[in-house]
Amino acid sequence: MTYDAGAGAPPPPSLLVTGIAELVTTEPGAGSIGVLADAAFVVERGRVAWVGPAADAPVADQVQDVGGRAVVPGFVDSHSHLVFAGDRSAEFAARMAGEPYAAGGIRTTVAATRAATDEQLTVNVARHVSEMRRQGTTTLEVKSGYGLTVLDEARALAIARQFTAETTFLGAHVVPPEYADDPGGYVDLVTGPMLEAAAPHASWIDVFCETGAFDADQAREILFAGKGKGLRGRLHANQLGEGPGVQLACDLGLLAVDHCTYLSGSDVSALRDSGTVATLLPGVEFSTRQPYPDARGLLDAGVTVALASDCNPGSCYTSSMSLCIALAVREMRMTPAEALWSATAGGAAALGRDDVGRLAVGKRADYVVLDAPSFVHLAYRPGVPLVADVTY
Ligand SMILES: [Zn+2]
Repeated sequence: MTYDAGAGAPPPPSLLVTGIAELVTTEPGAGSIGVLADAAFVVERGRVAWVGPAADAPVADQVQDVGGRAVVPGFVDSHSHLVFAGDRSAEFAARMAGEPYAAGGIRTTVAATRAATDEQLTVNVARHVSEMRRQGTTTLEVKSGYGLTVLDEARALAIARQFTAETTFLGAHVVPPEYADDPGGYVDLVTGPMLEAAAPHASWIDVFCETGAFDADQAREILFAGKGKGLRGRLHANQLGEGPGVQLACDLGLLAVDHCTYLSGSDVSALRDSGTVATLLPGVEFSTRQPYPDARGLLDAGVTVALASDCNPGSCYTSSMSLCIALAVREMRMTPAEALWSATAGGAAALGRDDVGRLAVGKRADYVVLDAPSFVHLAYRPGVPLVADVTY
């Protein structure tokens, strides 16, 4: 193709992705997650410009023929804790030998993270983000929460911001040892100087609302303080037992509440009525040998469900969304289609993003080519590295 030199810069090249045995768009209309057979799509300026049957595809400047493979939207991992130092493999081994998981294990990572340099933390985040990308995650959220001082929380978020816009201030992860006798004083720190320092680097604010961490009144106070600084709220809740967190998230109209492992009937009703996304993190139950959330019950009740990794060094050190899909299908009775939707469009809903998690005209062209003829292989072949190519 030639361009008139007098017309300014040439248009960017368009890319036709074709040879797709099965394209999952997650758009409603073609099955529950919009599966198109023998499909193609066109990418222009990083966005999807056309989707349809390969036979009808328009001409483009470049062609990517995926050779009869399946293509799915890039995974949207809406929950991770990547800014940390240290290793807790010994704790994992002890837990597998029968010791229970408790929220206090977080303090081990806090000590290691405080002792690390900015450079060490940045290298660690980069390594984990690269690991996620290779496994098909194209949008990710990263939380602070292992610094728990004004300076350490602010630097964790500044580091995370180098890798994603979806950064979450989690100063209220656990009360640090130096405030063990004064948890109220710690809440004052979180809602005061710590929030002030963290807010410029964060989009979200989160609280671990659980016995042993923060109660509902503290969580509400912290979320309101964050809102005052322009941060949107999310919650860790109902992970270790029933509690007030899910109800609080729904009452406040939060976009998402994460874990939802132990829910009452009124919690499920509240999720359905509020539209708050229940983000399930089955890697946690797998890694802590706990009962899984009732995903089937949530879906049947009409609740919007997302899947995320919760990648962290304590309760779940996997960054694999494919594993989460396999666990959701095998252990939580989600269908393969529901699990893939929750790991893509569901994650996008949990982050309030309408530009990712779907392969439709106008959306970001974030996509994964699978070494498989069908997306079902993500659950059918657990543990197999099926991600052949990732574009974002
Ligand atoms: Zn978490």
